Amino acid sequence: MAAAKRVRTFKEARLGLSKGEALEDAKIFLERERSVKGEGCPLGTDFFAVMRAVAKNDLAAAYEKLLEADPFPAVTGRIAPDPYPETQVFNRKSQKISLRAIACFVADQVRVKKASAQPRSRQKVAVVGSGPAGLAAASGLARLGFRVTVFESSHVLGGTLSYCYPLFRLPEKALSTSLSRLQAQGIEFVSNILIGRDAGIQELFDQGFAAVLLACGAGVPKGLGIPGEDAAGVLSVESFLKLRHWMKAGIEPYSTPLDVGRKVLIVGGGERAFDAARILVRLGRTVTVVVSGSDSALGVEAAMAREAAEEGVKVRTFARALRVQKDHVGCVKVLECEHLDYKIDGQGQLTTVVQPDSDFTMEADTILTVAGGRPDTLFLHRVPGLEFASDGAPVLKSGTRHETSLGGVFACGQLTEPDAGFLAAVNSGKRAVGEITKFLEV
Ligand SMILES: Cc1cc2nc3c(=O)[nH]c(=O)nc-3n(C[C@H](O)[C@H](O)[C@H](O)COP(=O)(O)OP(=O)(O)OC[C@H]3O[C@@H](n4cnc5c(N)ncnc54)[C@H](O)[C@@H]3O)c2cc1C
Repeated sequence: MAAAKRVRTFKEARLGLSKGEALEDAKIFLERERSVKGEGCPLGTDFFAVMRAVAKNDLAAAYEKLLEADPFPAVTGRIAPDPYPETQVFNRKSQKISLRAIACFVADQVRVKKASAQPRSRQKVAVVGSGPAGLAAASGLARLGFRVTVFESSHVLGGTLSYCYPLFRLPEKALSTSLSRLQAQGIEFVSNILIGRDAGIQELFDQGFAAVLLACGAGVPKGLGIPGEDAAGVLSVESFLKLRHWMKAGIEPYSTPLDVGRKVLIVGGGERAFDAARILVRLGRTVTVVVSGSDSALGVEAAMAREAAEEGVKVRTFARALRVQKDHVGCVKVLECEHLDYKIDGQGQLTTVVQPDSDFTMEADTILTVAGGRPDTLFLHRVPGLEFASDGAPVLKSGTRHETSLGGVFACGQLTEPDAGFLAAVNSGKRAVGEITKFLEV
């Protein structure tokens, strides 16, 4: 879709492949690429097997193959980078063939049917949190025959996928069909329940759950740690995105009463910065993403940076935020920054240096900060026997990656690795399945 059209809509920005294109791309990929360079798919998807099934027009088989490693290919296909980045195969239109786009096409085509009721005779397992890590674990456990219930504190399921990702990148249908498939697998979902407050971990055990997996994410925003950050009009990018999603006041998405003014600065890069920026330009705001590195270190794929620039998002590189200046009533006025530069040090390493006397200011009505998050465990701190480290993450038993200090309680996703991205969160959920299974088999 052309930028001028894209920026007037919240509909999906990248148009998917037609059936003809997907089948042809799969065939060309198989003809030209016998071995791939670089690492395989981080989730372990056998993309060659998927492409062989697509090339034969056997989309059901392709989908089953995808599901072996990826519980929600319609989501992954839209938000994860292509596997084998070094492998470049071009189609007849001279476009690089995207395996994720083909996978996404397959997942969008195949209708969700009631799963061929797998015997679910094994123990009951509770999963706390319905983000990618919790959902991946729930899917893996259900595939092994465990009876799984996912408890979610929000009214919507999907964690950050549901309330942070913009609709033009992850449309509601892609997530809802993925959730329907998990429900069809027999997984139960209970929303609007905050575990640790509305029900304790012991209560879950009392209800017959043999193990509990905490997949609560890292939803407590960290600040930038600069003076003036407490000004009205400074908020984390995640808080902004949540408010926009949750307070759907009208029929149009994002038409909430949150007033950000005209000029918005986003301090920090990465997908969440550019997602927020692209929502804001669609709402007619002037947006600048302020980063301390160069154009090539924005923390997003080149295509996302290019699309954002085409839509009107500005980027200020080599700028370090120093402090927020407030007006007389305590609202954001300007962001004070300093210019950075690069220098090669004695060991030939590139280092950042501050340009002397380079302070400058940028006016802002709102400043969104991108500084990551801390584990979301406020209510779990009261659980006797569950220990937490100083960074907020649960203490894990030595020799394990998911088993906590409290017997039968496991943890995964951003709760244990606060910087984990989507694929790492999914893999963590998948790995936790192995440790839970081992624990329950003893
Ligand atoms: C806007 C945005 C864009 C992003 N884009 C990308 C991207 O392009 N690529 C990428 O790799 N990563 C991206 N990420 C990061 C990625 O989304 C996260 O890595 C991933 O969502 C972490 O998954 P999780 O399951 O650990 O946690 P979450 O998705 O945060 O899910 C945790 C869930 O637990 C629930 N919960 C918390 N406490 C409780 C409790 N006590 N009881 C019940 N429920 C509870 C929460 O409500 C939440 O639903 C992005 C993040 C954001 C915010």
